[in-house]
Amino acid sequence: MCIIPFFLGPARVNFWAMSDQYTFEDGEDQVLLRSAWEQVLRRLEVELPETVMRKFLKPLVPVAVEGSTAVIDAPGQFIQEWVREKYLDLLQTRLGLEIGRPIKIELRIQPRERTAASVDVGVVARQPVSVDPTPVFRSSGRYRFDNFVVGQSNRLAFAGAKAVAAQPGSKYNPLFIYGASGLGKTHLLQAIAHEIQRRDNRCPVMYVTAQQFAEEFVSALQNNRIDQFRKNQRGVQVWLLDDVQFIAGKERTQEELFHTFNYLHALGKQIVLCSDRPPRDLLLMDERLRSRFESGLVADVLMPDTETRCAILLSKAQQEGVELEHDVAMYLAEAIPSNVRILEGALTKLAVQASLEGTPITPELAEAIVEKYYQSVGVAKPSFDQILESVSRHYQIPVPDIRGLSRKAPIAHARHVAVFITREITGDSWKHIGALFGNRDHTSMMHGYKKIRELMNRDKELNASVRLLMRDLYPEV
Ligand code: ADP
Ligand code: MG
Repeated sequence: MCIIPFFLGPARVNFWAMSDQYTFEDGEDQVLLRSAWEQVLRRLEVELPETVMRKFLKPLVPVAVEGSTAVIDAPGQFIQEWVREKYLDLLQTRLGLEIGRPIKIELRIQPRERTAASVDVGVVARQPVSVDPTPVFRSSGRYRFDNFVVGQSNRLAFAGAKAVAAQPGSKYNPLFIYGASGLGKTHLLQAIAHEIQRRDNRCPVMYVTAQQFAEEFVSALQNNRIDQFRKNQRGVQVWLLDDVQFIAGKERTQEELFHTFNYLHALGKQIVLCSDRPPRDLLLMDERLRSRFESGLVADVLMPDTETRCAILLSKAQQEGVELEHDVAMYLAEAIPSNVRILEGALTKLAVQASLEGTPITPELAEAIVEKYYQSVGVAKPSFDQILESVSRHYQIPVPDIRGLSRKAPIAHARHVAVFITREITGDSWKHIGALFGNRDHTSMMHGYKKIRELMNRDKELNASVRLLMRDLYPEV
């Protein structure tokens, strides 16, 4: 979220990043934030280890505060993640106490100095976080083509994204990229924005997640600002819509998306969409939209193989200025057969641990981290039996009934939930899932899945309990 300045949701902040000194432009709130921040650190100094203060908390830069949101910059992804995981609650509480109202901290990554090769004129080093009247997305420069590692698993999506960035609107329109979480879809989407703005920094590019699109749309409807909403969405050359699966089942938002899509497409504007599944599997998506999504290039991103995972680790380490030997990277890539986001998390833990201990990253340290975080949890997907057991426990319905033929409502419901979770987590074909559930027809499996999805869109409680079940089974989803 730290790279999506245009849509900060309800707690929007509107200011320009500040210099290191107070200036006459500093608002009262900003001055207040800085002195409150200094006070928080002074107090923490006597409570926390010196290394934590020096390496993690002191490098943070308070940027601005508006309402209940304070924006704090971290000088890199490692520090950002570590602070978020370990100290965010503490910092929020303390800062709230100093400022005198509840404060939520938005921890951003402060864009680093770029390497000479990627220095560009279009993207300023520190972005203003502002509600710009024009719908221009400013790439943070964190996600670029030159720091995307290409392998067999993502070659087509990468080539499609590069082609689109080179000649927006002329080759693949739309470009539809799909794949599981943490495999680089958002990275590619934002690399397109970055590349286009590197050439022409005034090119209006919109990056929006489907969730933001839906929220903005509903809020525009409620506030009679639909014209402005449409003007924003449609006044662009390049329209990047992330996580489009979110809109499935939301009829009015889909209708709006349909019109936005047609409007932009007819004018030859470039459209790029990302989703966690291919268009044909967006079951609750309007057929007209699905066929439009399929009308350009549809490209998948898969789990990278071990070599690619190793290359990604080495590239991330280099970007963050962390020394990582090839053998250690290879060990991690083999030991953690998981998506890139999780792999990055492992590297963060490792780098931070090494930094705290004041040692380089050794094979022993890597082994210790893998053992502590990645073995007991188990990164493997849960088995079908585990899914059944967990659904059975939750609904208090015996496993044989879930797999059986009874059509009693509570049993059928539990069965449909099990089908839903199996499909979401394993991605197995309908035919295979049908076989698991006692040789059932694949259409009845699809029907069960669709039913739960529809219900989840309407029923918040069901939505929460299914998600919870899934998270317990598989923390990575
Ligand atoms: P998705 O949108 O598919 O869930 P992201 O684009 O957010 O995934 O990627 C998660 C993290 O993994 C990001 O930090 C991204 O930079 C990184 N990543 C994913 N694939 C690659 C890759 N091929 N090369 C470099 N980094 C990658
Ligand atoms: Mg994403």
